[in-house]
Amino acid sequence: MPELFIGGRWTAALDGRTREIRCPADGSLVATVDEGGPEDAAAAIAAAREAYDRGPWPGTPAAERGRLLLRVADLLERDKHVLARAESLDTGKRLVESEFDLDDVANCFRYFGNLVAAGGRDRIVDTGNPEVDSRVVHEPVGVCALITPWNYPLLQTAWKVAPALGAGNTFVLKPSELTPHTAILLMRLLAEAGLPGGTANLLLGAGATAGAPLSEDPRVDLVSFTGGLVTGRRVMAAAAPTVKKLALELGGKNPNIVFADADYDTAVDYALTAVFLHSGQVCSAGARLLVQEELHDSFVEDVVARARAIPLGGPFDDHARTGPLISAAHREKVEAYVAAGIAEGAVLRCGGERPDDPELSAGFYYLPTVLDECTPGMSVVRDESFGPVLTVERFRDEQEALALANDTVYGLAGAVWSQDVGRAHRVASRLRAGTVWINDFRPYVPQAEWGGMKQSGFGRELGPSGLAEYQQVKHVWRNLDPRPLGWFE
Ligand code: NAD
Repeated sequence: MPELFIGGRWTAALDGRTREIRCPADGSLVATVDEGGPEDAAAAIAAAREAYDRGPWPGTPAAERGRLLLRVADLLERDKHVLARAESLDTGKRLVESEFDLDDVANCFRYFGNLVAAGGRDRIVDTGNPEVDSRVVHEPVGVCALITPWNYPLLQTAWKVAPALGAGNTFVLKPSELTPHTAILLMRLLAEAGLPGGTANLLLGAGATAGAPLSEDPRVDLVSFTGGLVTGRRVMAAAAPTVKKLALELGGKNPNIVFADADYDTAVDYALTAVFLHSGQVCSAGARLLVQEELHDSFVEDVVARARAIPLGGPFDDHARTGPLISAAHREKVEAYVAAGIAEGAVLRCGGERPDDPELSAGFYYLPTVLDECTPGMSVVRDESFGPVLTVERFRDEQEALALANDTVYGLAGAVWSQDVGRAHRVASRLRAGTVWINDFRPYVPQAEWGGMKQSGFGRELGPSGLAEYQQVKHVWRNLDPRPLGWFE
């Protein structure tokens, strides 16, 4: 069965090209899928445009749109294990983590389903004039291009698809070319839930060939992009000539700040999961550990001892606690950052190489790595390596902690560990990041906004603002008693 979904029909790429999808855990062939290009992008955009301009979805009552999202949530729960397995084969992620992600995916559809069905965003404006009916209404934006990365394929897709549909838009989804399977399965579920043909379109293919036309095409009204900073800049530039509405969810280089009065054991534990879960391929990974001077030596020693013991393995290895990197090229990038860090003076405390276990040799594994004595100028501290690499810097006091934490172009997330509530909140309020955790790391909920400050991007996903991204506001003024003005008499 062909895998592009355009205008309600499954279709092959127009030029017949395909791509092999391989599991990063062992390089095995998962499947061969259709590889769309610019002509397929044009066809998908045309279908979404037609469905927006003449199809039923934008005019479907909000309550009904909400109900469809709730049906999709049910279907996602029904197919959870099939979807989680597909996600793990594409990403190499442990099955249990994919299952957690799937719960979050269903919750996201459920949250937006209820939010949309509840309505209540439109309002009557009191103009003070009884002869005027003035309303502010929320309308869909139009045709949306939704471009997503490979690290949380279906979750990032859900954060866009659910509010885009809830608001009444039509869309073209372009998932990462490395991890297309759950997007294909989602299209089937949307069709099964009763979404009209052409409302949801799936374009598979590489960023430069299939993705780029989406930002450029004048028939697209909005681009919501999640991915790397460099690609985000390209998308922004490509969208500029047609002045599209834009939301960018880009990378992060997130500080995890541990004060000497933190709950020590919990902070050590979370320092590990913050960066080594999913082998650090998480936009909000706590890749920069900032430790207060007096705690530094023992804290790093304990983190290193536990990092050395993390078992690596494939998605279905129950013993494993983290998995491979997504590709050979990505592992080489991570290796280059570690080498550069060491050359610039960082001290390698553990990892820094591929595992020697022959059973892992076919996968793209890299050992959990801790680099100590890091400084803000090092490329491994500045740039997002997106691997299992923790850099450690020390600080003396609150002021220095904040200066180090904010010394980055990114501003996605950050955490502060301290039992001094006043200090924790002071630091939280001064961290320039879209999400701050106090004595915790990682949690997010669909009810609360997610997104970046600075070069981590703009726009918000999740929460009421996550729906607002896909709406535009219109003021409708009705004169209840129209009479000639007589101005030009
Ligand atoms: P990427 O930028 O390489 O690719 C992301 C998507 O963009 C893919 O679908 C790709 O095909 C497409 N693309 C590439 N070039 C394009 C172009 N010129 N025009 C349009 N689309 C194009 O990112 P990635 O390697 O897939 O994902 C990892 C990155 O995503 C990391 O930087 C990570 O921090 C970020 N990320 C951010 C968040 C967040 O919430 N802020 C969440 C997850 C991932």
